[in-house]
Amino acid sequence: MIPYDVWAEINLAAIAQNIRNLRAGLTNNARLMAVVKANAYGHGAVPVARQAVAAGAGCLAVARLAEALELRYAGLSCPILIFGHTPPEMAGKLMAFDLIQTVYAYADARDLDRRAQADGRTIRVHVKIDTGMGRLGVAGWPDSSRDACGEAAEEVAAICGLSGLRAEGVYTHFATADSPDPAGTRRQLETFLQILSALERRGITFSVRHAANSAAAINLPETHLDMVRPGISIYGCYPSHEAQQSGVHLEPAMSLRARIVHLKRVDSGFRVSYGWTEQTREKTLIATVPIGYADGYDRHFSSRGRMSLRGFPVPVIGRVCMDHTMIDVGAVPDAACGEPVLVFGRDTRGTLAADHLAQALGTIHYEVLSRISARIPRIYK
Ligand code: PLP
Repeated sequence: MIPYDVWAEINLAAIAQNIRNLRAGLTNNARLMAVVKANAYGHGAVPVARQAVAAGAGCLAVARLAEALELRYAGLSCPILIFGHTPPEMAGKLMAFDLIQTVYAYADARDLDRRAQADGRTIRVHVKIDTGMGRLGVAGWPDSSRDACGEAAEEVAAICGLSGLRAEGVYTHFATADSPDPAGTRRQLETFLQILSALERRGITFSVRHAANSAAAINLPETHLDMVRPGISIYGCYPSHEAQQSGVHLEPAMSLRARIVHLKRVDSGFRVSYGWTEQTREKTLIATVPIGYADGYDRHFSSRGRMSLRGFPVPVIGRVCMDHTMIDVGAVPDAACGEPVLVFGRDTRGTLAADHLAQALGTIHYEVLSRISARIPRIYK
């Protein structure tokens, strides 16, 4: 018996199988970098990272320095790329822990370079080129008012010329790989390859070029290059309808469960939770489960979320509180205290997809998973 009233069950074998299934579809012997940022999309960075490496991920990616350090402190020794900015004051940590930093602007790269030179060491970097995402990257998107390709190549070349940095990789990120129309992604890829050719003409090459997130890795093999960077798919979620149709089998790895900790039989017209925003329409049984918005169960599920008890859909009644949510279990025969309710994921009676919860909120499953808070224990199996 699991000694918790609320917990997330993480199926590490599913993560390993998802990685193997993704790898089976890769072209040109492309390698796989497992994206384990944001606590491995809520699944727990260290156990997921260990499993990913065991399943053949040659490299890990995180968003922040602190996430990379967590992995190193846990003993993970494989290459780790940091996608986001690291303050130059923290350059010492990059070197001490042999981390790979993304650089996307000459000025920032120069700061890191100075600190590396002052230490007589080098910092490993991947240069990021913005081919149309509009987030981080050397400006490489086509622009009629300038020679974007030439200018981007020049800035990247300047970064590569900094002797305190070791530019091992180069990458870009797609903005619309999950859309049914691949044209935008193909245009970004073409721009990226043009810039790489311009660099090659200057004698600059990289040992690893990468671009593909899950959607591109599954649906657009031409984006595989030397390495792919899947995130959501390794957790068993499809990034797009097209990916779902692709034939690549993915198994959702997280199931979130909460036990009924209190039950009350109430009359019709009983008003539930803060604000008394909802009342029962008939005599029923209301269960309280110890999960709330502080756990990542969004307050927008108030009066419109749905959980599952023994396969019966049980609607959220009234407002979601910080630590508790009430559900109407009147339709479930003999609902009892201590019974686990499925918030999302899988149990023996069926599946409640994180994607469906996301749709109810008008968001994406990435957000539903990554917001499951630290106070929810993760149970690995
Ligand atoms: N690469 C970068 C730079 C990212 O920021 C992300 C996630 O946002 C990924 C790869 C993985 O994307 P996905 O989870 O869609 O596979």
